[in-house]
Amino acid sequence: MTPRALDGPQLRREARIVGLDEIELPTLEAVEKRRFQLLLVMSIVAVAVALGLAALTMWDHEGTATWWLSPALTRFAVLGLVVGFCAYAIEKELHLRRLTRQLVEERVIVSALASRLKELSALLEAGRAMNSVLDLEQVLRIILDSAVELLDARGGSVMLLETPQHLRVVCVKGNEGAEGARVEVGDGIAGRVAVTREPLLINGVVGAGEYPGRRERAQPVDSAMSIPLIHRGELVGVLNVNAADRVFSEHDLRALALVGEHAACAVANARLYEAERCHAVELEHQAFHDPLTGLANRALFTDRVQHALVRAGRDASAVGVLFCDLDDFKRINDSLGHAAGDQLLVAVGQRLQGAVRAVDTPARLGGDEFAVLLEDIRDVGEARRAADRVLESLAAPFVLDGRPVSVRASIGVASSGPEATTADELMRNADVAMYTAKAQGKGCHRTFERDMHAEVLARLELESELEAAVARGELCLHYQPILSLESGRVVGVEALVRWNHPTRGLLYPGAFVPLAEELGLIGAIDTWVLERACRQTRAWHERHPDRPPLSVNVNVSARQLQTGAVVDAVAGALRRSGLDPHSLVVELTESSVVHDPATTSRWLQALRDLGVRLAIDDFGTGYSSLAYLKRLPIDILKIDRAFVAGLGVEPEDAALVSTIVELARSLRLEVVAEGIERAEQLDELRHLGCDLGQGFHFAAGLEPERLAAILADEDGHPLTDAVATTLF
Ligand code: C2E
Ligand code: MG
Ligand code: MG
Repeated sequence: MTPRALDGPQLRREARIVGLDEIELPTLEAVEKRRFQLLLVMSIVAVAVALGLAALTMWDHEGTATWWLSPALTRFAVLGLVVGFCAYAIEKELHLRRLTRQLVEERVIVSALASRLKELSALLEAGRAMNSVLDLEQVLRIILDSAVELLDARGGSVMLLETPQHLRVVCVKGNEGAEGARVEVGDGIAGRVAVTREPLLINGVVGAGEYPGRRERAQPVDSAMSIPLIHRGELVGVLNVNAADRVFSEHDLRALALVGEHAACAVANARLYEAERCHAVELEHQAFHDPLTGLANRALFTDRVQHALVRAGRDASAVGVLFCDLDDFKRINDSLGHAAGDQLLVAVGQRLQGAVRAVDTPARLGGDEFAVLLEDIRDVGEARRAADRVLESLAAPFVLDGRPVSVRASIGVASSGPEATTADELMRNADVAMYTAKAQGKGCHRTFERDMHAEVLARLELESELEAAVARGELCLHYQPILSLESGRVVGVEALVRWNHPTRGLLYPGAFVPLAEELGLIGAIDTWVLERACRQTRAWHERHPDRPPLSVNVNVSARQLQTGAVVDAVAGALRRSGLDPHSLVVELTESSVVHDPATTSRWLQALRDLGVRLAIDDFGTGYSSLAYLKRLPIDILKIDRAFVAGLGVEPEDAALVSTIVELARSLRLEVVAEGIERAEQLDELRHLGCDLGQGFHFAAGLEPERLAAILADEDGHPLTDAVATTLF
């Protein structure tokens, strides 16, 4: 802080600022001038007096020298005059000296004031600079530069409180490389200041231990100051400055504390701004991303498709869209719970991301529906290959709550072209193609074709009609006889649901049962079938009291088993119909039973406790272990017709059927062969020791009246032989 040279106008301006504008300031030059003038006047007066006295004393009017005053008196007078002047001169000299001292003092004061002014303006400047930027990094740099410049320091640092126990060096001057160092609260000068929250000044050589994070070869420090940065009573950080060739004063410490006040506020503001910016970014991210998987949402996806179409128009390339819907996701959600369902969706999102290129955009459009935007492709073939890759990526089982779960997906593929010029059209086409893939067996991809629209519309129509079908009484049952292969007598029937559609005629289960499962209508249908089949069978029992009671097999959907709803439905149907529970056989598919054995075994046991029997339908088509057969309470195995079809043609099928029959026998289970169509199949089955069978060779599913006729007629004409032909 060296006093700067002051010129007149500058001095006056600064004096005015500090309220001294009323005072006419004497200057040193003016005082010197006065002194000189005084000396001159004194000399002139002294000479004049001496000459006057000499003239008066020495000459009369005749020109002779006379003494009109005694020479002694004259000498005294002259002496008196000289002494008087001397006294006057001395007094003036003293006065001038006082004035000079006063002037020097005033200059010192003014210089000090000017220096404070400089500090003040530097502080204001620093404050303005700090408040003019909001970026934390810039704010920190300004704080440090201002402090170093103001205090004429060699270097310094800013540390921010990271945790209640740690400070982090975030900005450094003069000790570059120390950024990022961690300082424990309590360690070194800064650490101590963080604890005491009081400014600290240390003069004399400051040891390296006082500067945690300081580099070994950093220059020595002779004087150091640290001040806490406190905003609204909270410690934000610590500001440090150091000097090597000078020592700081208490006044410097106060100046630094003033900088610190601004700095704390600026840091707090910058942090607030940073937090708000992050929040805004977060909000924007949320608006365009799916919170569960982090993938793009429908809004962002649509936007990207739009942009991709514009780019493709310029580059003469194409845009592809895949719509991907998980098959039977609802079943997983229902059986394993929503948390596992969410886990699965996240994992599917990740696999999807891994299966496509970095430039492609995978998105979750909602529920179990995903999509992928394929930019810059040559043709739809490329999109199909991407769909293959997506299906492959989903092939390996997912592990949910420690259990492996297999998931398949149906994918619709569409690409830009004359049929799809807008994002909406392209996405709708992919959706339609996906819908078709679902309807055509799931687990596959289909590429959009124009006539798919009509098919999808028809399916949508069917969906709405199916909802009303149960209530309108449009469902009916056909019964397929199950015979003893030994005696050829009908021992039971399988109830098969049909839909008497008002315009399309009789529909078979393949046309509406999967749809009903998807729409959650299968429960109502199965319950209706149970009620109707039990009542019908009970009626046959009453009509033919002499023949062994017919059993009735009813198919129950896997979903009904998972929720246990089937138990109530069966109990209700038995109670209302009065059917002997032993006459009812509940058919379940192999996959529905083994999907979640822990849950299903409970319901199977509950069904068993009601007295009904349980059959595994389509046995051999599931890919499960056979161990469940021993553990679960099962009574009957129904050999899938795929194996029966090969009898007499494929020796392997005969071996398989024989193994199943043996297996059933050793587990004391009844075995029914499905889909017997030819006499040689029947012979082979008989030969293999299969107990029971059903199939077109005997009869297809029949209306109840036709079956009643057969029952009435049966004694004379066992179905095993020619009767079957009359039944088609
Ligand atoms: P499923 O339980 O295996 O029923 C046997 C299916 O095979 C029936 O088809 C039957 O008509 C057919 N079939 C019988 N004999 C032969 C044959 O010799 N050759 C050939 N090719 N087929 C034969 P349908 O009636 O179309 O039923 C198909 C499937 O729909 C059933 O397979 C069953 O899984 C399901 N289903 C039928 N009714 C119901 C029901 O009420 N509820 C539920 N949830 N599913 C049902
Ligand atoms: Mg069946
Ligand atoms: Mg079957």
